[in-house]
Amino acid sequence: MRRVNSDMEKQELNIILMGPPASGKGTQSELICKQYNIPHISTGDMFRTAISMKTELGLEASKYIKEGLLVPDEVTISLVKERLHAVDCKKGFLLDGFPRTVAQADSLEELLASENRHLSLVILLVADEDELTSRITDRRVCTYCGASYNLKTKKPKIDGVCDICSHQLVQRADDRAESFKVRLDDYKKKTLPLVEYYRKKGLLKEIPALNDIQTVFQDIQKSIASI
Ligand code: AMP
Repeated sequence: MRRVNSDMEKQELNIILMGPPASGKGTQSELICKQYNIPHISTGDMFRTAISMKTELGLEASKYIKEGLLVPDEVTISLVKERLHAVDCKKGFLLDGFPRTVAQADSLEELLASENRHLSLVILLVADEDELTSRITDRRVCTYCGASYNLKTKKPKIDGVCDICSHQLVQRADDRAESFKVRLDDYKKKTLPLVEYYRKKGLLKEIPALNDIQTVFQDIQKSIASI
């Protein structure tokens, strides 16, 4: 665990978490934010909230999101800028889904530098593509309670039936091999330049993502402790 002394308490923990779809980013975000008491800032979640509340931002963002496109940089950057000024970000933050372009990464750096803040580290969850694909294509979820199973590693007791509530298990449409490949290719195309960007700055920590949840979290904690 990260050592806490009076100096460190003052030090912000400003993290970016990156990783391919299905690498466990959501689960690890939750664990990190709870452990270090920092807010989870997901631009995707912020856009979805704005869309459901039908705000001006939501109406603008939905035009792009519906088409599977990135929301323009100026809209996204100003949203993040405002969020990072909120009082709960004083001790740090975990960014998830931002930056997604080099322009966004440059703006983030400028913003932080102008306030004498800086990024602590960029965590990249890494996973072998074939293993990730089989992990996802073998996933089945309960239509009723949302419980998740795996046909190889976490089989239900009765085929196709949820152990918890006895409702039917299905494969999510975006977990099928073809649509997962599209998501994965899109991630690689857009994220690789950022991986190199942060690697050159010496901020990147690569963590194997396919170990069990607690092992991945322990590796993340070690990286944070070594900052
Ligand atoms: P996510 O849940 O992170 O996959 O985000 C859902 C959608 O929100 C994306 O497909 C984009 O359309 C939009 N979005 C989220 N984050 C960003 C970002 N940093 N830059 C531009 N668009 C974004």
